[in-house]
Amino acid sequence: MVVSPSLSNVAGGIIHLKLEHLQTTGSFKLRGATNAILRLSDAERTRGVVGVSTGNHGRGLAYAAKQASVRCTICMSELVPRNKIEGIQSHGAEVVIIGLSQDDAQVEVDRLVEEVGMIMLPPFDHPDIIAGQGTLALEVLEDCPEIETILIPLSGGGLLAGVALALKSANPSIRVVGVSMERGAAMIESQRAGKPILVKELPTLADALSGGIGLDNRYTFDMVRDLADELITVTENEIAKAVRHSYWSEKQVIEGSGSVGIAALLAGKINNPGICVSLVTGCNLDMTLHNELINRELEEDSRVPGGLRNA
Ligand SMILES: *Cc1c(COP(=O)(O)O)cnc(C)c1O
Repeated sequence: MVVSPSLSNVAGGIIHLKLEHLQTTGSFKLRGATNAILRLSDAERTRGVVGVSTGNHGRGLAYAAKQASVRCTICMSELVPRNKIEGIQSHGAEVVIIGLSQDDAQVEVDRLVEEVGMIMLPPFDHPDIIAGQGTLALEVLEDCPEIETILIPLSGGGLLAGVALALKSANPSIRVVGVSMERGAAMIESQRAGKPILVKELPTLADALSGGIGLDNRYTFDMVRDLADELITVTENEIAKAVRHSYWSEKQVIEGSGSVGIAALLAGKINNPGICVSLVTGCNLDMTLHNELINRELEEDSRVPGGLRNA
């Protein structure tokens, strides 16, 4: 973790960033995948694992499977950016591209499970995945035991569930804030509806946060309901600003999904953060897009002498 003086200045409090985008595979997802694969029986390991993924889970699962010498197939929708597909293939997994949503890809996973006997490891709704993501919270407590607030990028909720359960077990007064993008926030809209609902998947800078939570959600819907103190959303513009801020002021390359906590802080959406940890969850974005995002700000900013370069 590092303290961000500039974010502390803008948002008040002391803002720490937990730099999980620096993990092997570029996100925290290898934690859950590794834990789940290590808990398979020998017989299960020989059957191989299969998953549906918007990218980072696929990478984490491919990596964890390779480390354990387990065969791995990843199914994903056509909305997934090319760099993420190649990233998964580079970790030795077989990729199947199918349909226009995570739910379509799930149909192919179900077929591989039934017809080929592979073991399905879902991206979030699984106790071993949730527990694996929660290991991150133990490191946060070790480095910052006085933590008061945590900002957690929220999609299916495996990360929030594991991290919040670990933190609240240590100290129930730690304030847990889940952050999603406004465009297609499936977990947040489901919480508002009081049950898992279908939410239209829309293109967003926070593509790793898109996708449904499953109408038959078993764990994360309840855990997010019970453990999150606040659920908030950020706009595409706020996410873009956060990616730019991360580069020019924090000197970090962070994907949209990984920067939603920073986006919320910059937008003034976190009241009294106090001693706050914002989870920076991933770095896997198309570098051409990243280049556009960071330079768009510079052009706007060139009217200001000194500009952002001195920020
Ligand atoms: C998967 C992911 C998340 C959200 O994790 P969930 O367990 O699905 O809520 C956040 N950020 C990044 C970069 C991710 O890959």
